[in-house]
Amino acid sequence: MSLRAELYCYFCGHGSGEVLIATKSRRPSPEQLKAAYAAVTGPRAPIWDQGEQPVCPRCGGQLFLEKYEQTVRRPAAPTQASRAS
Ligand SMILES: [Zn+2]
Repeated sequence: MSLRAELYCYFCGHGSGEVLIATKSRRPSPEQLKAAYAAVTGPRAPIWDQGEQPVCPRCGGQLFLEKYEQTVRRPAAPTQASRAS
């Protein structure tokens, strides 16, 4: 089972993008969030400033867990989006 979560900045509206977190709990822990966002690179990625609280890369404000939901089912098989190249 996994959670779909996103960190969001209430100060400037910056969204850090969704991540999938493999967990059995109903809410991801800070450690799990940090591990999940370690895979996110680039200007959108949140910054962990030594502590457990991620901060916004744009304004330096605190990021909040905007939404998280359990994804019980695996996503459907990929559609036929194959492009001949
Ligand atoms: Zn911000």
